[in-house]
Amino acid sequence: MANPSLLILPGDGIGPEVMAEVRKIIDWFGAKRGLVFDVSEDLVGGAAYDVHGVPLADATMAKAQEVDAVLLGAVGGPKYDKLDFSVKPERGLLRLRKEMDLYSNLRPAQCFDALADFSSLKKDIIAGLDIMIVRELTSGVYFGEPRGIFTEGNERVGINTQRYTESEIARVARSAFELARRRGNKVCSMEKANVMESGILWRDVVQEVHDKEYPDVELSHMYADNGAMQLVRWPKQFDVIVTDNLFGDVLSDCAAMLTGSLGMLPSASLGAPMANGRPKALYEPVHGSAPDIAGQGKANPIACVLSFAMALRYSFDRGEDADRLEKAVEKVLADGVRTADLMQNAGETAVTTSQMGDAIVAA
Ligand code: ATP
Ligand code: MG
Repeated sequence: MANPSLLILPGDGIGPEVMAEVRKIIDWFGAKRGLVFDVSEDLVGGAAYDVHGVPLADATMAKAQEVDAVLLGAVGGPKYDKLDFSVKPERGLLRLRKEMDLYSNLRPAQCFDALADFSSLKKDIIAGLDIMIVRELTSGVYFGEPRGIFTEGNERVGINTQRYTESEIARVARSAFELARRRGNKVCSMEKANVMESGILWRDVVQEVHDKEYPDVELSHMYADNGAMQLVRWPKQFDVIVTDNLFGDVLSDCAAMLTGSLGMLPSASLGAPMANGRPKALYEPVHGSAPDIAGQGKANPIACVLSFAMALRYSFDRGEDADRLEKAVEKVLADGVRTADLMQNAGETAVTTSQMGDAIVAA
């Protein structure tokens, strides 16, 4: 059988720095676990613009469509701020998401014990927290027509349209139920069916998909405003949360920050199943290119490392190896190894990006 294939797009800023640490881990899996990937590496974002004049070359796009998974670092930076909108680094990432049709965005909020004091919330609220927000990523108010700023009488009016089809709701619901079966077997769907037609349809369709295809999974519904409150009040009541594009944007940032630093947060964006039964997939840290610390060896590589762990779990069916990698991260944190973003006490010394990567490999 052919080796599983992985396209690595380090991108800009700290992207290449954190990705170098993931390469060490990939090499470790090859040497120690017989898990050998066909890895190819290419350019995205400003790095691609510098060479090709576009933030994602057609050949790179084609490669992304063929591989089992894409792992991306980060795109953008001040050097590219003045570029025309059509060639901005971020457009490279948007093109990947759009053409791969990655409609299901997974953002875990997980609290590592060693960092339980790090959050601004009380320890008992977040200790042991492990939840997953599934955000619909390719439809809703971000794309609905009509949209624009129009003139009505003697004033302007800004219009956006929240629009969801049944099939768009059903596919992201399936993605959440599938996920729940591999976790705590519980889904909470969030919308505002009390004030929005799209919310009524959302609730209906999620319930229908549940009753027909996933009756074994526990399903509840919640208004998104209550959901926001519950997330902060007692987040451990949730396992998987599924919600639309706009509510998901807000709720996933909120959930992510329950646990601490941007440098810790991975994500996955999944699309339709491919021939091998696994979804099209792109994995990336939640953080951006962090131009303020780029090139200084200060970046925390854990978000990117955990993104690779998600790839092991969701694209390569190597859940045990994903656990192994997450446990290594846990151990390193328990041992007190800290990059600068994770420092909480004066007197602690920070390790470099590379030292953090080495410590994870050793663990
Ligand atoms: P984008 O617009 O690309 O999402 P952003 O403006 O939201 O980017 P980031 O690039 O994510 O911002 O950086 C926000 C802050 O968090 C910066 O101060 C940055 O240094 C810090 N930061 C981000 N990622 C990391 C990391 N992996 N390790 C340490 N600090 C980080
Ligand atoms: Mg940002």
